[in-house]
Amino acid sequence: MTRAIFLGFAVVIAATSLAAQQPPAPAAPDPIRTLVGRLDLERYKATVKGLTQFGDRRQGTKRNRDAVDWIEAQLKSYGCANVERLTYEFKTRPRTGGANQPAQRPADPNAIPTAQGGGRPRGIRARTGVNNDPMRQPDEKLRALNAEPATDGERQEVYCTKIGATRPDEMYIIGAHMDGHGWGEAANDNGSGTALVMELARVLNMPDVVTDRSIRFALWNNEETGLNGARAYVAQRAALQGQENPPGSGRYPEPKWLGMIQHDMMLFDHGMPRADGTVSPQQRPEADVNIEFQLTSKFVDGAKALAWVLHGANEKYAADYPANIGSHMTNTDSTAFMDHVPSISLRENERGTQIGNGWDPHWHQPTDVYATFSDEDFRLGLNAAQTTLGGIAQLTNARLK
Ligand SMILES: [Zn+2]
Repeated sequence: MTRAIFLGFAVVIAATSLAAQQPPAPAAPDPIRTLVGRLDLERYKATVKGLTQFGDRRQGTKRNRDAVDWIEAQLKSYGCANVERLTYEFKTRPRTGGANQPAQRPADPNAIPTAQGGGRPRGIRARTGVNNDPMRQPDEKLRALNAEPATDGERQEVYCTKIGATRPDEMYIIGAHMDGHGWGEAANDNGSGTALVMELARVLNMPDVVTDRSIRFALWNNEETGLNGARAYVAQRAALQGQENPPGSGRYPEPKWLGMIQHDMMLFDHGMPRADGTVSPQQRPEADVNIEFQLTSKFVDGAKALAWVLHGANEKYAADYPANIGSHMTNTDSTAFMDHVPSISLRENERGTQIGNGWDPHWHQPTDVYATFSDEDFRLGLNAAQTTLGGIAQLTNARLK
């Protein structure tokens, strides 16, 4: 009895191992993995470093215009041939205050505390603000570089476009703001997001890369003054979407918008401030890329779907840090787009409840310089780049010739 069962078992084993001997069909190499592999920490750092030569790149100054020129030259050198500029006027709004403030609403007994964007702030909070004091910048050379104040007037911002092979009339917009302030080098806010978009432009415009749909790489100006550059783009170009111009040319100067993905402050996730208000000097090991959509936006369902595409791409392609999704995207250029197209932002932390609570002590401060950040910080930005590249490559069906 026992022996008979054993024999039967042996026969099954033999049959199974025979099947296992059939060589498996070789898996086709994943072209998206090849593309993501073309991103590199040292290159990403070098692009951030290149941006910091223009100090804080404050809008309305020569150092800002020089940075736009430099970004444009880099985009051209990457083979992103369709480099264009958007021109608009910026005038500082007069400050309202004092007697002009609206009357305070009576207290709502059911109100829960909310941060900007609608999230609920929790835990220890440290103070935040914009540094306007040049003397808090100890580096005299950098202080001198940042000395010119902003002047109202004409502004420009630069973008370039990879044209889709089969759907040139549809595009995703990948953006970051290139201006900064605070008397540092705007290395994290927002050299880190600008360099990410530039690196994606470099990889996706390599001569052997084909996408079905178009991708626009946009470096917004005037974000720090209230998203003015992104708002100018929406005002000037939303109505041009999908128009072939000239008719019959196959050219679409403003392809139909399918999604907008913004990158703003990508490096620093050292956790909540400690009880004494200081923040850990080390990147926390559980650092993550925060993908946010906005619950109140007109295209919230599409924005959620876009967020999950990037979340999935993070699991597949990002090397070190995971992604988390939140519903309170705020205070960045994607806000200007969110009632026109599904829009999300990627950041080092949630903007409202975490950055707003003081999780990044270098935010708009003289310490936002390249030398402040370690490789563990830069690696978080690189992982966000891997996330967006993996997601956008899937959405546009990127492949190698
Ligand atoms: Zn920013």
